[in-house]
Amino acid sequence: MLTLERLSFGVGDRFAHQARAQLRAFQMLAARGVEVVPVWNKSNREHTFIGSEPQSVRTAAEAAVAALGWGGKWHVDADHIRIETVDRFLPSSDFFTIDVADSIGRPAPSAEVEAFIAKHPELVGSLSIAGVANPFRTTADDIRRVAGKYLLAVRDAGRIHRHIAERKGGEGNFIAEVSMDETDAPQTPPELLVVLVLLADEGVRAQTIAPKFTGRFNKGVDYVGDLAQFEREFDDDLAVIAHAVARYGLPANLKLSVHSGSDKFSLYPIIRRALARSGAGLHIKTAGTTWLEELIGLAESEGEGSALAKEIYRQALEHVEELSAPYASVIDIDRGQLPSAATVDGWQGGQFARALRHIPGHPEFNASFRQLLHVSFKLAAKKGRTYLGLLEANEAIVAKNVTENIYERHMVPLFLGGTVG
Ligand SMILES: [Zn+2]
Repeated sequence: MLTLERLSFGVGDRFAHQARAQLRAFQMLAARGVEVVPVWNKSNREHTFIGSEPQSVRTAAEAAVAALGWGGKWHVDADHIRIETVDRFLPSSDFFTIDVADSIGRPAPSAEVEAFIAKHPELVGSLSIAGVANPFRTTADDIRRVAGKYLLAVRDAGRIHRHIAERKGGEGNFIAEVSMDETDAPQTPPELLVVLVLLADEGVRAQTIAPKFTGRFNKGVDYVGDLAQFEREFDDDLAVIAHAVARYGLPANLKLSVHSGSDKFSLYPIIRRALARSGAGLHIKTAGTTWLEELIGLAESEGEGSALAKEIYRQALEHVEELSAPYASVIDIDRGQLPSAATVDGWQGGQFARALRHIPGHPEFNASFRQLLHVSFKLAAKKGRTYLGLLEANEAIVAKNVTENIYERHMVPLFLGGTVG
């Protein structure tokens, strides 16, 4: 049985050049006594934009594991796959993030919804859950509405889960995550409970579940939302999961997966406290901000790498609209804050790096500049060998930035405690 450990951390490596620098951060954390399992994730959309194949992620990870002598576990996540996209990931992935967001809200046959309610009278009325301050009070109509909203999504998850299990030689041979984060409305803890019961009934052996949390999770920048509400809901979600595991026989290691979009620094102390209180596990998925560390390293090289970083920004500025469009719901670029290409051309590489590097409160940090570049990785992909060659020529300075970013700005505050900066 392939079982995901209590703590795991998803990293993206868009150009398959930083697995070693990423893994180094896990080693530094392990040296301080905290074992966190690395999971390299890449979605079909990223592969399509970059023109890469899923096997390249495993190959890069394997090489890093061998080079650093990593003796711990590690996984390769087929991120946000659906039935149409899963097949190309089957040979190289052992972790599958089953994305069912598109089916949320599709009207379910009422007979099936009524059958669910009849099977689960315990969900209706007052439901006390250990660790949740006030009992959930739900009517049959509430359950009807929530089950109706999620039932077809869960059926979809079941279909994809069985599809993978058949091709991987059984459900014990892979780790399944169910993701519902890429949808409009967050799932409240009572809704999460219904979803988990639906998943248990459907036989989906999920080891992680990625709900959409309250607040905005923009790509590559900090959380925007009500921290107190997030903390309450996060705690309640943990309690709901523990309840569902005990009551409905879901995998004992089922845990929350936070699709963070990277850099949710203000949430890290909250998550850290919640895990300490509850003993719960966590999977946290960062977005591909490692590629921004590549750009930072190239800029700091002050040579050809710096010139290429500026050229990518110039092109990004010319295509703000089309680069942003696929990410409209997860970025907030203030056009007024974007420096002109001429201004940036006049910068030293170090200045480019400081505008891009995410140190909240740093006077030169520019969140709009960072978000625009974050969604501009297609432009680097178009440079092909030129970009990769510069990464290779400047490997040391790029790797230093990649490792430091993951270790100091993410792992230390999440797993050791400490400030971001
Ligand atoms: Zn996600």
